[in-house]
Amino acid sequence: MSSSASGLPFDRPGRFWRGNLHTHSDRSDGALSPLETARVYREAGYDFVAITDHFRPEYGFPVTDTRDLRSDTFTTLIGAELHAPVTEAGQQWHIVAVGLPLDFQPPSDGETGPELARRARAAGAFVGMAHPSASLLTAADAESLDAAHAVEVYNALADRENRGDSWHLTDVLLNRGHRLTTYAADDAHLQHQDPPPCRAWIHVRAESLDPADLLTALIAGRYYSSTGPELYDVRLEDDQVVIRCSPATKILLSGGRPGAEVVEGTDLTEATLPLALFRSTHCRVTIEDAAGGRAWTNPIHL
Ligand SMILES: [Zn+2]
Ligand SMILES: [Zn+2]
Repeated sequence: MSSSASGLPFDRPGRFWRGNLHTHSDRSDGALSPLETARVYREAGYDFVAITDHFRPEYGFPVTDTRDLRSDTFTTLIGAELHAPVTEAGQQWHIVAVGLPLDFQPPSDGETGPELARRARAAGAFVGMAHPSASLLTAADAESLDAAHAVEVYNALADRENRGDSWHLTDVLLNRGHRLTTYAADDAHLQHQDPPPCRAWIHVRAESLDPADLLTALIAGRYYSSTGPELYDVRLEDDQVVIRCSPATKILLSGGRPGAEVVEGTDLTEATLPLALFRSTHCRVTIEDAAGGRAWTNPIHL
C-alpha cells in the first residue's frame, strides 16, 4: 500500500496548519471574548481556532460568528459544542461540530444527540465525539453516534481529571469497522482554575488557510494531533512504517491488536518499525518527547 492509499497526509500538497478544534468563549462559559480567545491562540503561533461554544438554551444556542477575526495569517472555523439527550450514563451528549452554518437551528423537541449530530453533518460540519472518557461513553453510545467523523482522543481539560485520553474506546470502535479519525484538543475555557491553553492541537495538511480548505482536509482526515512534538514524515514502505520527527524519547506503533512495536532512547528523530503485528487491522504512530508531550497519527488501515 502506498502512503497516499493509507490516508497519511505527509506527502499531500500544501503544508501543515496548526489549530484547536474545541474552545469556549464568553458566548457560553468561557472567560474571554471570542476576540481575546482567538488572540491567545494567534499569539501562541496557531494558524486557526474553532470557537465551539455550548449550544445550550441558557446561552441562546450560540454559533459564535468569528468571521471578523480572520486575517491573511490567522483564520477561524465556525462551530459549536452540541448537546442533546442522552447517553447511557444519563448525561447530555457533547458533540463538537466544526464548519457549521451560522443559522444552524436549535435542537427540536425530542431530538437526540445522534440525530443532532446527523443534522450537523448534513449541514456540512466535521463532527467529533467529544471527550468520550470524561463523558463515560459506552461502546453502544459511541456506535449510535454514527455521524461522527472523528473521536476526540485527547482533551486537555479532561486530563485534569485523569480522563483526557480516549484511545481504548477508539480502538474498540475501529476494530468494529468504524472508520473514525482522531484529534486532540484543548477544550479551553480560559478560566483561572483551568489548565493553561495551547496544550493539545492538530496539524491540518491543506494547500491554503482558507476555512473551506481546512474543513475539506479535516473531513478527509488529513491531519495529525499533538501535545508537543512534531511529526515531519510518516510513510509506509513495503511491510514497514518509516517515521521522521522532532526529538523523541519513544516512538511506537500500536493499534488493533494487543502489543506494540517500540523504540526508546534519547533524541530519536527517525525510526523504521514493522507493520506485521497489525496486518488486516489498523495501527497508529505515537511519539513521546522528554517533556511528556505526545503526537499521534490518525489510524492507518492495513
Ligand atoms: Zn464537553
Ligand atoms: Zn467543551
